[in-house]
Amino acid sequence: MTKRIALLPGDGIGPEVVAAARQVLEHLCGDALAFETAAVGYAAYESDGEPLPAATLDLARRADAILFGAVGNPRGDALARNLRPEQAILGLRKHLGLFANLRPAKLYPELADASALRPDVARRIDLVIVRELNGDVYFGEKGMRTTAAGRREGYDIMSYDEDQVAAIARVGFETARARGKRLCSIDKANVLETSQLWRDVVIEVSADYPDVTLSHMLVDNAAMQLVRDPGQFDVIVTGNLFGDILSDQASMCAGSIGMLPSASLDADQKGLYEPIHGSAPDIAGRGKANPLATILSAAMMLRYSLGLAAEADRIEAAVARTLADGVRTADLGGEASTAEMTAAVCEQL
Ligand code: NAD
Repeated sequence: MTKRIALLPGDGIGPEVVAAARQVLEHLCGDALAFETAAVGYAAYESDGEPLPAATLDLARRADAILFGAVGNPRGDALARNLRPEQAILGLRKHLGLFANLRPAKLYPELADASALRPDVARRIDLVIVRELNGDVYFGEKGMRTTAAGRREGYDIMSYDEDQVAAIARVGFETARARGKRLCSIDKANVLETSQLWRDVVIEVSADYPDVTLSHMLVDNAAMQLVRDPGQFDVIVTGNLFGDILSDQASMCAGSIGMLPSASLDADQKGLYEPIHGSAPDIAGRGKANPLATILSAAMMLRYSLGLAAEADRIEAAVARTLADGVRTADLGGEASTAEMTAAVCEQL
């Protein structure tokens, strides 16, 4: 049966890298996938007056999976907050119930020199961070007030309910079950009540996953361990705030931002897949963007939302062989264009 893919290219290099991933998918899957494209971000603001038009949301809802490029344009910075390109991502997460963010961080051995870590440490990175997306301090009551002493005070309330924690814990356990069967839950249970509940609920859920080894780590220690010995982690599960910070940290340990894919899933494994990088306005339109993060996001899409794990493996193997052949875009220290890198991956397939 043909699967419907919504393509939301967005701004800057978004259209370039999404076109590259589409080329790889068509090369591999032929007519098994049908693509439909809609505007999002600043491009949608220009065409429709808002960053997430109703037609785009509708297409995303109807599709079996969504492949997203990036949003952001310097001209958008002057707009009211609700019209800024970046609002499109928050809107998609909210309307589609995308609560679980999966970010693999794996270092291809050939790129060990691109990591911020020593090559012998970096070479061991092969982990997935599972981050909760719809709760935590970002979504609690927030505001500005005046203290009794007449001083300004900002506040943001951190909270999680047990169902939110159980749902993301299950994603963590399932992800670990499909990999190395080790899950590390990261919290700050020594000082935060929210984290104490988090830890209690993760332990409760672990009863359903006797085959997965569960450990716990405080977030400050986790930040240190990620640079000291990232090879010790298989799957990490954590809340929205800690995951936001740790996933960027892990990414840079694994090399160029142009290499790293991500998935945001709903409760039925339907998902939005995107590179972790932004719209890179500094290189947009010059054919210099590294398309591999988006091509690897497409592989995640095949694996998690479309049940095509063998095809996902083939894409990942083709990317590894392309890098082993020495093909490099500028961010990896080479001279290959977006088109040349994409053609090389198709050739390897
Ligand atoms: P960025 O990720 O766009 O770029 C950071 C640096 O990395 C730039 O020098 C860029 O040229 C380079 N880079 C990024 N992706 C690359 C690729 N595929 N190949 C080669 N080089 C690459 O981050 P930024 O500059 O902080 O943000 C630019 C815009 O993107 C902003 O408007 C920001 O809000 C937006 N943004 C969007 C997303 C998203 O859509 N999910 C994520 C992050 C930033």
